[in-house]
Amino acid sequence: MAFDIEMIKAVYSRYESRISAARKVVGKPLTLTEKILYAHLWDGEAGEAYGRGKSYVDFAPDRVAMQDATAQMALLQFMQAGRPQVAVPSTVHCDHLIQAKVGAEADLAIANDQNKEVYDFLASVSNKYGIGFWKPGAGIIHQVVLENYAFPGGMMIGTDSHTPNAGGLGMIAIGVGGADACDVMAGLPWELKFPKLIGVKLTGKLSGWTAAKDVILKVAGILTVKGGTGAIVEYFGEGARSLSATGKGTICNMGAEIGATTSIFGYDEKSEAYLRGTERADIADLANTIKEHLTGDEAVYANPEQYFDQVIEINLSELEPHINGPFTPDLAWPISKFATAVKENGWPEKLEVGLIGSCTNSSYEDISRAASLAEQAVEKHLIAKSEYTVTPGSEQVRYTVERDGFLDIFGKIGGVVLANACGPCIGQWARHGAEKKEKNSIITSFNRNFAKRADGNPNTHSFVASPEIVTALAISGSLLFNPLIDTLTNEKGEQVRLDEPQGLELPIKDFAVEDAGYQAPAEDGSKVQVLVSPSSDRLQLLEPFKPWEGTDLLGLKLLIKAKGKCTTDHISMAGPWLKYRGHLDNISNNMLIGAINFANDSADTVKNQLTGEYGPVPATQRAYKAAGIDTVVIGDENYGEGSSREHAAMEPRHLGVRVILVKSFARIHETNLKKQGMLALTFQNPADYDLVQEDDVIDITGLTSFAPEKQLTVVLHHADGSENSFQVNHTYNAQQIEWFKAGGALNIIRKNQAK
Ligand code: SF4
Repeated sequence: MAFDIEMIKAVYSRYESRISAARKVVGKPLTLTEKILYAHLWDGEAGEAYGRGKSYVDFAPDRVAMQDATAQMALLQFMQAGRPQVAVPSTVHCDHLIQAKVGAEADLAIANDQNKEVYDFLASVSNKYGIGFWKPGAGIIHQVVLENYAFPGGMMIGTDSHTPNAGGLGMIAIGVGGADACDVMAGLPWELKFPKLIGVKLTGKLSGWTAAKDVILKVAGILTVKGGTGAIVEYFGEGARSLSATGKGTICNMGAEIGATTSIFGYDEKSEAYLRGTERADIADLANTIKEHLTGDEAVYANPEQYFDQVIEINLSELEPHINGPFTPDLAWPISKFATAVKENGWPEKLEVGLIGSCTNSSYEDISRAASLAEQAVEKHLIAKSEYTVTPGSEQVRYTVERDGFLDIFGKIGGVVLANACGPCIGQWARHGAEKKEKNSIITSFNRNFAKRADGNPNTHSFVASPEIVTALAISGSLLFNPLIDTLTNEKGEQVRLDEPQGLELPIKDFAVEDAGYQAPAEDGSKVQVLVSPSSDRLQLLEPFKPWEGTDLLGLKLLIKAKGKCTTDHISMAGPWLKYRGHLDNISNNMLIGAINFANDSADTVKNQLTGEYGPVPATQRAYKAAGIDTVVIGDENYGEGSSREHAAMEPRHLGVRVILVKSFARIHETNLKKQGMLALTFQNPADYDLVQEDDVIDITGLTSFAPEKQLTVVLHHADGSENSFQVNHTYNAQQIEWFKAGGALNIIRKNQAK
């Protein structure tokens, strides 16, 4: 932790000068979001005001966090950079690969066995390069980050979409792909389009059955799953200050469901209490010294419409508990309207399972409030009618709530405590009977409820609510139950009511833990061996890609001309392929298998120009590679949209595709291609897309004088002997052209390291 405090001191020492520079260029009062962003510019003090939703800006994040599924490729790439240590404090969290089946202990033992080689690899890389390693069972990335690493006014990136959870403690925390994490760990700037700003003014105070979760359930209903795209959501007002730090974390976490870049709350007394409660009084003391910079300017909050792009106001005193779903988190129902919606829509009324916890809702406050309901159930002779599971977010929370008797109480209503891991939240749930695909209902305190996400059954109607509402409904066994007004029949045949939940934001006896599950890295990792078996089918060390040969690219074959939508999922499918995320050659067997071939309107069937036969895209490409022939992929509009998955750029590169020529690119994918040393080109005239034929041999010329804003030329040699030639555009800047020449950005970093 000493390392952290020094880092935080350094960050805070820059605040004064950077914020006054930002004030000068922006020329008006600043939101908290702007303060943090301008304090983290890669180039130091601001020299210009950035256009929201327009300017691409380089930032210098303070931290990186990675979960075990995405960390594999991020770290394999990082190893290519040739650095002895990561450039910024970084951590790895083993949470996604643990399957929930019977209970914490047995499930963890199985995961340790099944994923041993992946865990050993992650542990050894972490040890070698100065990365903190959180073992399987230590907890879920976002809860562990909130408890240990988040700090007010900081900026971090994480290889998981719910990284914004740390916004609850006043940190700009953004979910990214592995390639971005690799860049920041390797000491490169991180680029982000300067976000738009949505202000959410919270007035009033929560009471009774309403919880922090209901704020974001309501916001999701207002903004919908796309409403936050390209924006940071900043919460403010007396209502915001009344929420616990972990409640704020819940709200920021689920901001991912409205597509927001991230969400944030300002530093206040609740943040200070949480920092002190999690043994970080030194950070609270430091934060107090620059308090005025850790919240937006008063003038902004007094007149929010003038400073935010959009403003929403919610009165917490009037907010009802909400239940959102099924199948989408923005279908928001106040609880008073929910039972009618269930009946009108024919959703299964019987509630099969209630699941609480996850990274979204497993704070001490959440667990203690849910436990207060379970305790009442026992006292009032109620038996929980649904199955009920509890997923603690961290070992520290689990140990503390066990010490304080809450897990015991859950046990009395039949609750099963699962491992401190993602489990059912990410489909890692061996739910009995799910294979029968029966129509059924479950309710969770998680964040996402898309079809199949929890148990793989498309007919599971999954609803999202606060842990309190989940617990009450699990006790009742019915989606029609409204605990605010309804009674339940107990074992004695009496009508009883559940009283409002009660809980504590922080434990009276402080948090405790025996083994938090943290492994500090070696002081000097130079002698540490990274463990990867050459026979592994899940992990493979990367080889540097070859540099450009210094000539034009002549005689390339067309691999596929993709028609219509081609997202990163079409280029590198998820699902069963996730298993191979750490093995580039194996996962390359999914390359472009979802793309539609213009020549036959089919997926994964392309002509092999060497044999004239049709076959799967990866196999055809491997045949070209074996023959020493490079290839071109042609694409339509917005090629590579979707996630920032770097595999979608690495697989073509690995298998020998040299050029991706499209009508237009999704920007992140275009950058990923450049980073891997590929040529990412766009038609100057989109109609030239129609000139490309199935048997074409293609030349790319002009490369020997490759320069920013200078077009290249494409020549198509058709099978009938005719030719077409046209100009193509690119967006490479001088540095990116060097990436291309070196065969990839990491090759340059490695070269610089070696100097
Ligand atoms: Fe993602 Fe769910 Fe795990 Fe949270 S608990 S990190 S939302 S999979």
